[in-house]
Amino acid sequence: MAKFDYDLFVIGAGSGGVRAARLASMSGARVAIAEEHRVGGTCVIRGCVPKKFMVYASEFATHFKTAERYGWSKSGAAFDWPRFIAAKDLEIARLSGIYVNNLQNAGADVVHARAELLDAHTVALKDRDRTFSAEKVLIATGARPVTPGSIPGIDLAISSNEAFHLPRLPKSILIVGGGYIAVEFAGIFNGLGVETTLMYRGANILRGFDNDVRNHLETELQRRGIRIILGCEHTALEKTERGIRSALTSGHELETEYVMYATGRDPYTAGLGLEAAGVALNAKGAVIVDAYSKTNVDNIWAVGDVTDRINLTPVAIREGAAFAETEFGGRPTAFDHEMVASAVFSQPPVGAVGLSEMDARRAYGKVDIYRAVFRPMKSTFYGGEDRMLMKLVVDPATDRLLGCHIVGPDAPEMIQMAAIALKMGATKAQWDATCAVHPTAAEELVTMREKYVPANLAMSG
Ligand SMILES: Cc1cc2nc3c(=O)[nH]c(=O)nc-3n(C[C@H](O)[C@H](O)[C@H](O)COP(=O)(O)OP(=O)(O)OC[C@H]3O[C@@H](n4cnc5c(N)ncnc54)[C@H](O)[C@@H]3O)c2cc1C
Repeated sequence: MAKFDYDLFVIGAGSGGVRAARLASMSGARVAIAEEHRVGGTCVIRGCVPKKFMVYASEFATHFKTAERYGWSKSGAAFDWPRFIAAKDLEIARLSGIYVNNLQNAGADVVHARAELLDAHTVALKDRDRTFSAEKVLIATGARPVTPGSIPGIDLAISSNEAFHLPRLPKSILIVGGGYIAVEFAGIFNGLGVETTLMYRGANILRGFDNDVRNHLETELQRRGIRIILGCEHTALEKTERGIRSALTSGHELETEYVMYATGRDPYTAGLGLEAAGVALNAKGAVIVDAYSKTNVDNIWAVGDVTDRINLTPVAIREGAAFAETEFGGRPTAFDHEMVASAVFSQPPVGAVGLSEMDARRAYGKVDIYRAVFRPMKSTFYGGEDRMLMKLVVDPATDRLLGCHIVGPDAPEMIQMAAIALKMGATKAQWDATCAVHPTAAEELVTMREKYVPANLAMSG
């Protein structure tokens, strides 16, 4: 008789947990996976997937306008928020169902309950009088939105979780935050005709991205009608008849129907019984793991956002897969977190892989920059004002590409391909030897021959 009820108990059925549970099950292990909300996790239920549907929905406003410039007559199309939300929810339910089926087909037991650890080998199901023993435990509980608790009236603000289910499309919204979620939702609401203000306490949006990308995107967002307030925070929020009045550190006041906070997400470790199991956390509450996603406790691992490494779905999936390969496939595998590409589904979108110019200068001293700013072909046809940015960061000592940054239509699709070359360690010479595909925007990437010298550097010598 087996010593434990399960070989593996996974807590959290999001991107990382589902992949690990499925692969471990398929290798013959006895696996259970617990989910307190809906199978699929943040990405499928209230993250990447519904957000992308909202981006698609909001882009049509621009498409209709562009169509007229290309000879189509006025469409007179109107947007129906409840109809869109219902269709979106149906698709999310379908996807969540596929996840459940895939887990069950692989042989895993799916438990719809909150799970907490009583000790390193015992999992209790909350509100159900049940405990299970497991030889190995995987923590894959993700992260949750956090708001600064000290601001009076902060409870009036919503997070991205609620933004997916607003009862009706608001007339106006103030989005607080400068990260990718804030910027993406600003584009969504603006595209859907909502008067949108984006407020961030820092000097510019998208901290961590290349400065040219940040500046370029700020200009493009403003060009599309998003009002951006930088270097400013709330002092208080107050309910009014028409919505919420925001008092700001600048001394100004702003009234909008909604205020949405997208100022960060913290690892979801509270109340999980990790202290009882002896699992060590860092100051932010993230589970500390090694390269194999193993915690300080010998039979407990953690993957995905709960470890606060690179908080993206494909990374959580690869960490979950690497864990299953190592522990149940007999092939020790550590996911390599270098050169992970990322996208921002703003309007226009961003794609980036590798080092920003600033980080590259810090790490390498001297770097070569290649840069192109141009009007996309589709816009030149009707005299559109929008601009696309492409930028390469190169190590002059080895000619290796250190970073690639794109802002403009299809940037996320392009960056996936560019990431292959950068991950392989491609040099600029190899990149340039690649023949262009014409007529595309992407061809600019392989035709940038002149090094870019910023005006201030050129002047100083
Ligand atoms: C608005 C938004 C947009 C995003 N867009 C993108 C994007 O475009 N691209 C991208 O790559 N990433 C995106 N992300 C990030 C991505 O969603 C996460 O990186 C990814 O979901 C992390 O996967 P995970 O498995 O670590 O956690 P999650 O997917 O969050 O899964 C954790 C699961 O654990 C469950 N859980 C927690 N505690 C317990 C418990 N005690 N018992 C049982 N179940 C529990 C939760 O309910 C949840 O379902 C986005 C996130 C948000 C919020």
